[in-house]
Amino acid sequence: MLFKPTYVFDKAGDITPGFLKKHNIKGLILDLDNTLTTHNNPAPPQSSLDWIGRMKSSGIKLMIVSNNHAPRVTPFAGQLGIDFVSEGKKPLTFGYTKAIEKLGLEKKNVAAVGDQIFTDVLGSNLKGIRSIFVFPIEPETGFWFRVKRKIEKAFLPENPIR
Ligand SMILES: [Mg+2]
Repeated sequence: MLFKPTYVFDKAGDITPGFLKKHNIKGLILDLDNTLTTHNNPAPPQSSLDWIGRMKSSGIKLMIVSNNHAPRVTPFAGQLGIDFVSEGKKPLTFGYTKAIEKLGLEKKNVAAVGDQIFTDVLGSNLKGIRSIFVFPIEPETGFWFRVKRKIEKAFLPENPIR
């Protein structure tokens, strides 16, 4: 099912190194907006910095793949000390392909974390990697965003991993 995430967490910060090890995930492809910080916010929250620190010290390899433009992604990724692919055009798969190459891992050992079914989850499934859906840090308020979120609900389990 192309729109179904493999795993669901409330937020990225809830994903633990233990969970990843158990599921043989050695690298994470991270969405940026509404996954690591609020939309177009240039600053990562302390919680994201702490989580990324935990991931790095556990040996989990990280790579950002964002649909946003280089001027947005470059300084943000720099603050986190993570390499990135910008203008990823998710759900197309070439951004993931490039990211997996940069990670130097086999795709069976990579999962992608993101807050949107129709970009992050669909793109991961098209690429054939596991997806970890997280709920958006700050739900968007525009009409079409709300419509989209309603449709997304159909693909989400009632009880995310907490
Ligand atoms: Mg996002």
